[in-house]
Amino acid sequence: MHVVGAGLAGLSAALRLAAAGRRVAAWEAAGHAGGRCRSFFDARLGRQIDNGNHLVLSGNRSVRDYLSLAGAPGALTPAPEAAFPFADLESGARYTVRLNRGPVPWWIALPSRRVPGTGLRDYLGALALLRAGPESTVAEAVRGRGPLWRGFWEPLTLAAINTTPERASAQLLARVLVETFGKGADASRPMFAPHGLGPALVEPALARLSALGVEVGFNRTLRAIAREGGRATRLAFSDGDEALGPADRVVLALPPSRLKPILPELDLPNDACAILNAHFVVDDPGLATAAPLTGVLGATTQWIFVRGDVVSLTVSAADALGLVEADREALTARLWAETRAALGLRATDHTAARIIIEKRATFDQSPQAVAKRAKARTSLENLFLAGDATDTDLPATIEGAIRSGETAAALAG
Ligand SMILES: Cc1cc2nc3c(=O)[nH]c(=O)nc-3n(C[C@H](O)[C@H](O)[C@H](O)COP(=O)(O)OP(=O)(O)OC[C@H]3O[C@@H](n4cnc5c(N)ncnc54)[C@H](O)[C@@H]3O)c2cc1C
Repeated sequence: MHVVGAGLAGLSAALRLAAAGRRVAAWEAAGHAGGRCRSFFDARLGRQIDNGNHLVLSGNRSVRDYLSLAGAPGALTPAPEAAFPFADLESGARYTVRLNRGPVPWWIALPSRRVPGTGLRDYLGALALLRAGPESTVAEAVRGRGPLWRGFWEPLTLAAINTTPERASAQLLARVLVETFGKGADASRPMFAPHGLGPALVEPALARLSALGVEVGFNRTLRAIAREGGRATRLAFSDGDEALGPADRVVLALPPSRLKPILPELDLPNDACAILNAHFVVDDPGLATAAPLTGVLGATTQWIFVRGDVVSLTVSAADALGLVEADREALTARLWAETRAALGLRATDHTAARIIIEKRATFDQSPQAVAKRAKARTSLENLFLAGDATDTDLPATIEGAIRSGETAAALAG
């Protein structure tokens, strides 16, 4: 059994297969695992940081199962409640959306728990989203453009789908609601990685794989697959080939832009949707009591994560918002000013700053692109696909990537 690509989808597939007693060989083009979800030491900041903030919710069942399989069920720490503090930099308002436990969402009836300026009827927009067809965008499915749009639907769509609501698939957002917010607070608590994404999600999986006898072969790029009689017969890597025996099966866990040269017959979604993260090292005692996660409205900044003295903020759909080509110095100054205002920091400046733009953070999650997602089964009987852009019904997220690995492993194993 070969697994190619050691992002979360590949690690998930490899773990499932190895835990089921299969002999697995795993291959990865980079010198490290984790793909788009990784930690590294940044010399300018003098800190280990993540390539980007990742929001995971307690209802992400595949993440939970994956961590249990990796022997690290407690690697992510849930927030004590499903509470989402917001700072509106335009109006100066601050409020916290606080879900209740259980499937009956009585929090929407309480002004103290819901978005200010909204009424019970506004939340019925969720029903329209649940009924939306495959061709609808979030903006088409949800009608109102009042405070609930600005204070809930828009930030939720950007965070979950990395696509503006005018483009984002309504059905993808509906899946997120069904699996998390729709189940109440227990499925909607943000999960934090206290030491970063690598230590929480990647290192435990590598350690478990190693214990199961699987060592990932790094710096091996798959270039092509030879086929014969409806089967894959040989994997051509940058440094040599792996012949496939009659019982060998292969899981390719690669993003569309990397899969396309290998399987050119596939019509895949474009995966060039960017996410911008800015990381600031800040010396301010106020950080000790700051919320670990704050939503920001009326600003370029969308979400702020605080971990120790590192404040990291996220701007999803950064290409659609015109930030990829923006002047970095001016952008850093603007994002820092917003961060100070949102968190009420006293520090007038940061100690160090780093902006990271992941140009290929996710695929374009419009209804048209969603329709092009590849299935896990291919036309070759021993070749299976995984990855967040495959047809999982979920957005391109950690949960989606891990679930795609489960599906591919179930088919291949
Ligand atoms: C900045 C940023 C913020 C994000 N925020 C969130 C969030 O808040 N919540 C959330 O759930 N998700 C978020 N995501 C998305 C999440 O990171 C991805 O959905 C997930 O990591 C994708 O995993 P994957 O295994 O499908 O793909 P990848 O992580 O891309 O893994 C593919 C692997 O295959 C390797 N590879 C590529 N080509 C070859 C080849 N030819 N041969 C061998 N190996 C190859 C790559 O090096 C890579 O390691 C974010 C992503 C980014 C970049």
